[in-house]
Amino acid sequence: MFEIGQEEIDAVTEVIKSGQFMRYRGGEGGFTETFEKELCSKFNTKHALIVNSGTSALICSLAAMGVGPGDEVIVPAYTWVASAMAVCAVGAVPILVDVDDTLTIDPEDIERKITPYTKAIIPVHMLNTPCDMDRIMQVAEKHSLLVLEDACQAVGITYKGKMLGTIGDMGTLSFNMYKNITCGEGGGILTDNEKYYKRALMYHDAGCFTREHASSIQEPFFPGVNYRVSEIQGAILGEQFKRLPKIIENLRERRKVIAEVFADCDKFKILKNNDESSAAAILIIYDKPVKVDSLIEVGGRHIYTNWDPLMNQSSFHKDMNPFKWAKREIIYTDDMCQKTLDLLARVKNIEIPYDMSLDEVKTYAEGICNE
Ligand SMILES: *Cc1c(COP(=O)(O)O)cnc(C)c1O
Repeated sequence: MFEIGQEEIDAVTEVIKSGQFMRYRGGEGGFTETFEKELCSKFNTKHALIVNSGTSALICSLAAMGVGPGDEVIVPAYTWVASAMAVCAVGAVPILVDVDDTLTIDPEDIERKITPYTKAIIPVHMLNTPCDMDRIMQVAEKHSLLVLEDACQAVGITYKGKMLGTIGDMGTLSFNMYKNITCGEGGGILTDNEKYYKRALMYHDAGCFTREHASSIQEPFFPGVNYRVSEIQGAILGEQFKRLPKIIENLRERRKVIAEVFADCDKFKILKNNDESSAAAILIIYDKPVKVDSLIEVGGRHIYTNWDPLMNQSSFHKDMNPFKWAKREIIYTDDMCQKTLDLLARVKNIEIPYDMSLDEVKTYAEGICNE
């Protein structure tokens, strides 16, 4: 689901005509920088950095917070595999934990899986659904852990009035074409922490020590990679961002109509949402595993049991295998998050029919109920 049109075409045309494709060649005030400032202001966060993918945003954030070899990072068993692979990319190991009956990471299971080596938690706001951030932040504080929110699938969604991605120490967004707003491929990093922001800036841009803004950085420089975006992406995102409030409002409105119809349906229950008042997604749960063709399976590629390269603890080079650097033996088994598997067999995601009128949405919801 995404909206795109003449505004984006015009913005890209402007970039092409200007001949200025790189964000750090045109001086201050380019498209990417302008979008970052907009993002900070609308999301109420001190720093935003746009990078070339959501995965890059996760890797950059982990590097920025100093997560690395020997560290364990808690990740839900139900997510896009990139949440876990980003952990391996910085040399740490993902520790998988169950989701609860909201289909987001279970704060109780987080506590059970904390060890002396745990460094961070990655709560993932799947399918526009917020995690229980109050509980997660409490657990993190109690055990002195960092929190990196993966809001890649929930750009523009709020939890108790705060934008997802701005509650933890750092947060990430994705702008690939399956996400709420898109420029084809892209990602965003959000943080209030200046040190983390500066370190992310370095990591994403070959250490950034040759840039003009290097003089404003007090942190020690270290080598990085290249996760920069081009001004073409920045220009598209600037326009996409203007569409976001309407997109979220549309989802919320239609979600409400569907929830009202489903409230009277005895075939399934609506899954609890951690912030019912601003919910923009709807998932349902049956008593027993079911197969309903028209409904969207939420498992598949997003269940840990199907992440073969990770489950096999493989790496591109045997000496660069983070599982060798772990402080204890990490064992992955197919049944390690059984509760998640049981839930996923019974839960379906109801796609919010974005283009339907509210009357049509009602009929659509009744159809699902009578199926
Ligand atoms: C899409 C997604 C990512 C990664 O985003 P890319 O932009 O595709 O790299 C990370 N985590 C989750 C939960 C996602 O859905």
